[in-house]
This record gives sequence, C-alpha cells and structure tokens, in this order.
Amino acid sequence: MIRAALVVRDLATVATLACGPVPRVGEAMADLTAIDGGAVAVDRGRVVWVGPERRLPYEVRLRAGGRTVLGRGGTAVPGFVDPHTHVLFAGDRSDELAWKVAGASYAEIARRGGGLLSTVRATRKASDGQLLRETEARLRRMAAAGTTAVEVKSGYALDHAGELRLLRLIPLLARRTGLRLVPTYLGAHAVPPEFARHPDAYVRTILRRTLPAVARGRLARFCDVFCEPGFFSVAEAERILRSARVLGLGLKVHADEFVVSGGARLAARLRATSADHLLATPERDRRRLAVAGVTAVVLPLTAFASSVARRSPARELVDAGVPVALGSDCSPNTWVEEIPGVLAAAVHAGRLTPAEALTAATVNAAHAIGLTDAGTIKVGRPADLAVFPVGSASSLGYRFDVRPSVVLRQGKPISPP
Ligand code: ZN
Repeated sequence: MIRAALVVRDLATVATLACGPVPRVGEAMADLTAIDGGAVAVDRGRVVWVGPERRLPYEVRLRAGGRTVLGRGGTAVPGFVDPHTHVLFAGDRSDELAWKVAGASYAEIARRGGGLLSTVRATRKASDGQLLRETEARLRRMAAAGTTAVEVKSGYALDHAGELRLLRLIPLLARRTGLRLVPTYLGAHAVPPEFARHPDAYVRTILRRTLPAVARGRLARFCDVFCEPGFFSVAEAERILRSARVLGLGLKVHADEFVVSGGARLAARLRATSADHLLATPERDRRRLAVAGVTAVVLPLTAFASSVARRSPARELVDAGVPVALGSDCSPNTWVEEIPGVLAAAVHAGRLTPAEALTAATVNAAHAIGLTDAGTIKVGRPADLAVFPVGSASSLGYRFDVRPSVVLRQGKPISPP
C-alpha cells in the first residue's frame, strides 16, 4: 500500500501530460495522456500515485490526519508554467492607454515620456518593500488562476546595481508566495537614458560588469536580450548571449516582435533555449528554429495589448515542427496574469487546439525555462496541479475566464489572494 497525506479524487479526468518526449513537437502536442475518472495521491509534496479512482482503495492508504480533496467532477491539470514574464516592476501605465487608443506608436509614446522608460523611472524610485508588495500581489493572483511556476525577468532598472537588486528580490518573492520562480537577467531590455548617446558603452557595461556579477552571484538562470531595431542589434545580442553562455547561463531572445529583427535566426544559430514573441518571423526562420530544437514562446495577448494588427503565429510554428510554449508576457504593457485567458487566446487567435495549448502552457513551458520536473502530473514529481470545474481539458481554451477550484503547489493548497 502506498501511503499518502493527500488524495485528489472525484474527477472527470486527470490530464497528466506524463508520457512522450520533452519538449513535445507536432502531433505529440495533442496527447495529454489523460486518465478518465482519475485520481492523484500526494505525500511529502510529491505525487506518489496517479491512476483510475476505482483502484485507489486497493493501492493507496491515507495517513492518519490526511486530507481528501474532492474535484466534484472537475478536471485536474498540471500547474501552469508561465515561461515569460516581466512581473517585477513598480507603478502602472494606465494613463498611456488614451495615447495608445488614439494610435500613438510605441516610439511616440516613448517620446512623450511614457512606455518602458517610464516603468524604469518608477522601478528605480521604488523601495524594495514597494516592489515586493506590488509583485507579490500579482504573483498571488497568477497562482490563484492555476500557475505554479513563473519565469521572472529583470530589465526595469537597466543600471548595474539596480538590475542586481531586482534579481536579488526574486528568491524573496519565491519564499513569500511559495511559487517556483526562475530568474532571467534582461539588462538588455532597452538602452537606459543615461547611455542614450553611447549605447555601445551600455553593452560594454553589461559584458564587463553586470553579466559577470550576475553569474558570480548565481542570480539568474537565463540571459535574455531584446533584439529589435532601436533596442539591440543582432551583433550586440550575439555578443551578450555568447558571453552569457560562457558564464553558464541559458539563452533566450526577444525575437521578431515588431519586424524581422533576425532574432529568431540568431536564436537558432546559438541553439538558445527559447525564442520569444516571433510575430514577424518568416517561414524560413521558423524552420531554422525547428531544426535547432529551439522552443518558441508564444505570447498571444501581447499583440492584442500592443494594438498590433498581427495574429499570434502559434499554429504555423507547430506546423513547422517547432516546440511551442505559451506565456502571459505579464508586464506594464501587457498586464495579463492569468493563464486560462492566454490558453483561450492561443486557441481563438493562435489556432491551436485546446490540447495543444495545454501542452504549450505546461510541459513545453517548463522545458522553455529549464524545469525538468514541472508541467506534468507524474509519480516522483512535485505535486503542482490545478483542478478546474470543467468536465474535460478542452474546456480550457474554450472558456476565457474559467478559474480553478483548487491549486496545489508541492501538495499544499495555494489560498486565493
Ligand atoms: Zn517580454
């Protein structure tokens, strides 16, 4: 008999995503390895049993004082993994919406003192306490909607000490929220105003000072670069990423968001872990990503929030054989915290099936941030899962704002904010 401290049962189905290669590509993205009438048993924070509920009484014994969670005919899925967020910032940019609605471009908004650099000003000014408080509230809302692991980028300080400060806050946020957080250094998010006339001097600061300090302090697992005209060129991105790789960091690229920046091509050449956005990536570069095995992180609500008339290329990427992951891109520009809406956008605008979208938001998203034991419900893995009050996994992606009745992180319920 297997001993368990917690059992989740009375479920229509458990989408385990436990079988198949990681990351999933092509047709394998549609296979959820679902167990109809399934149940899950948890002990010491890990899954110890998963199978049909009818076998539960013969194979699992609840410890004295153990708990049973009733799914009430719902669907259990792995906790969502959000592999692309800028969730660590201060303030908001709601006052810029009127400009956006009137058709002002990203560059015009920046000229009026808005956009990314206005968030940089607010973040530099904010105390640690304010940053922790505001970010913790966002992370708790993410968790209440079913997310149990989140990638968190720096990139709103853009100076040496400030970027290190942001990265040092991430483990504190993990402790406060109980979530699994993966830190990414994104000093190359934009050129800060004090370097506006000497962007190469900023790249040199990253290469000589900040990146080595990030690696020495083990403050980040990945290095990311915003590769786009007016931000960082392919050559600059390549220098930064090659140096990050030598220092032991994984590589990510903000690629082809506005125009064909060459970012996806660079990600393929460097065999980066992921290339993100990809709104403008041409067919030939999609094929390069597939050949190089780079995961495409698709952010279907970003084009919508940026009022860009471009559809998320999720379908095209899957059809090209690229492993696809989904993220919120939670930031002051795209203030999206909850993955169920991202799944629905990936289905309705990105033309993924609900099963493909769920794969993209769990096991493939975990792969995109180097988590080998997340995004599945599998014996021996952390018991990170969510139960949704829907009769099948395909209702995720169909209903925009469905919320879980239970979210477990390491077998413990995450209480709503
Ligand atoms: Zn981003």
